[in-house]
Amino acid sequence: MFRDGARKSMWQAEAKRFENLPTQDQLFDVAIVGGGITGVSTAYRLQLIGLKCILLEANNIGFGTTGGTTAHLNDFFDTTYKEAISKFGLENAKLLAQAGKEAINIVHSNVFRHAINCDFEYKNAHLFAVDDDQVKQLDDIVDGANQVGYEMNYIDQIDFPIPFKKAVLIPKQAQFHPLKYIKGLTEAYIQAGGMVVENCMVESHVEEHAGVVLKTSLGDINAKHAVYATHTPPGISILHFTTAPYRSYAIAFSLKNENYPNTLGYDLYDPYHYYRTHEIDGKQLLIAGGEDHKTGHSEDTGSCFAELENYCRSHFDVDTVEYAWSSQYFEPADGLPSIGVLPSSDGRIFVATGFRGNGMTFGTLSSAIIYDLIIDGENPYAKLFNPKRFKPTAGFTSFVKENATVVSDFIKDKISIERIQSLAEINEGEAKVVKYEGDSYAIYAEQNGQLHVLKSTCPHAKCEVRWNNAELSWDCPCHGSRFNINGRILTGPATSGLEKLNEELQGKKN
Ligand SMILES: Cc1cc2nc3c(=O)[nH]c(=O)nc-3n(C[C@H](O)[C@H](O)[C@H](O)COP(=O)(O)OP(=O)(O)OC[C@H]3O[C@@H](n4cnc5c(N)ncnc54)[C@H](O)[C@@H]3O)c2cc1C
Repeated sequence: MFRDGARKSMWQAEAKRFENLPTQDQLFDVAIVGGGITGVSTAYRLQLIGLKCILLEANNIGFGTTGGTTAHLNDFFDTTYKEAISKFGLENAKLLAQAGKEAINIVHSNVFRHAINCDFEYKNAHLFAVDDDQVKQLDDIVDGANQVGYEMNYIDQIDFPIPFKKAVLIPKQAQFHPLKYIKGLTEAYIQAGGMVVENCMVESHVEEHAGVVLKTSLGDINAKHAVYATHTPPGISILHFTTAPYRSYAIAFSLKNENYPNTLGYDLYDPYHYYRTHEIDGKQLLIAGGEDHKTGHSEDTGSCFAELENYCRSHFDVDTVEYAWSSQYFEPADGLPSIGVLPSSDGRIFVATGFRGNGMTFGTLSSAIIYDLIIDGENPYAKLFNPKRFKPTAGFTSFVKENATVVSDFIKDKISIERIQSLAEINEGEAKVVKYEGDSYAIYAEQNGQLHVLKSTCPHAKCEVRWNNAELSWDCPCHGSRFNINGRILTGPATSGLEKLNEELQGKKN
């Protein structure tokens, strides 16, 4: 398995294993945890100036959302400049725009410097409104962009066969193959002397005056600094209460005609659809994404693909669905990512999370911010994205809202569990959480009748997991931990799996 889901993403063929080298009795300058775009970019940058770095990955490089992204590189964000001005002020919104440009430049210069063959291309983007409400939104977006000096130009035609009322062109965005990119960057990191250890789960840490000890599945790792580039940090952190996990769906289609869009595209529905073209193995494909929802909040995640496919078929001349996959991202309470010192740390442990749908940009930017914080102790964007900005009252409304949902969901789960009386109600290919002799279990019956019985309580913060039929996983609605049908952990913040019933209790359904 090379990704945190049962479906194959269109990038996955590029995932490769790196050789693990012995780590005993060494002191590293920086231990970077997580081999997605954030971890690889950060490790590369720090290693390049001669620091002794180690990159620890629970599975393989590209296993997380970076292997399930759609890899648009944008410097306009899910949080619009208008929203940023109103929440953080004009100067900070300008800083945000500058940060986006810097991130795209970093990717371009990494690609150029190491001749990374990752299909990097600058592209224009079309942002379009399909009804009057969206027109109002679009005008607001343009107004905000104008105020921060960010270029958006109204246009009469778009590159997509979708009726629209108003649209803008945004120049100098980009796209690339995310796994070819991080594979190339990992190779450059190793060439510069960096060490990669895969299949290494970081379970906890101890921060001391002189450094950090990471407790891992392969033993202790000692470093002067540690970076959690794990998309969401392990353990319990205030950041888990100021970000919420979401799923998004992507499909790569071949078209009957050759009208593949040459630009990146976005409408303004909530959730919005996003589009772009990429060539895989000599074949052009249209990638469409959307149908986002909070993790664990769709009864039938498979239907999200059907909705997305139907919507695309109603506009594009679709031939075949070549790939369909989903993945997870994290929504921050105030709309901005958290990049910097981990809130519970005295200064030696860093984190990067809360990227919304802009992690290619913010993951890359994290490498520059964390590099500066480790080397110089300061960075121009550090204050804006400071993970310690969330005081007990900041983001409180969203925090309460997230938790209110969690509480009511918990009750709803209990009720539905009451209705399920025995394992016998599960048909082949189905999964349910059932109550059995006072405990609750997550049960999945394979097509051949093989039952997989797990305790349904997420080890992270004790919430009840939900079935995700699209990716054959048990997903925690609270903080986004995910597990496969055998209880093995796919996605943090949990660092251990769902408890599996004794082998003798696992069995075949009659
Ligand atoms: C469908 C979809 C489409 C998207 N499209 C775009 C897009 O077009 N443009 C864009 O900018 N953003 C997009 N995003 C968001 C973006 O893909 C993510 O924000 C980004 O990939 C996150 O990268 P990361 O390196 O921080 O995390 P990840 O890629 O998730 O990497 C984290 C890694 O850490 C490892 N890990 C976790 N816990 C531990 C542990 N305890 N010990 C060791 N290792 C651990 C994981 O195995 C994983 O490999 C999209 C998201 C989704 C869901």
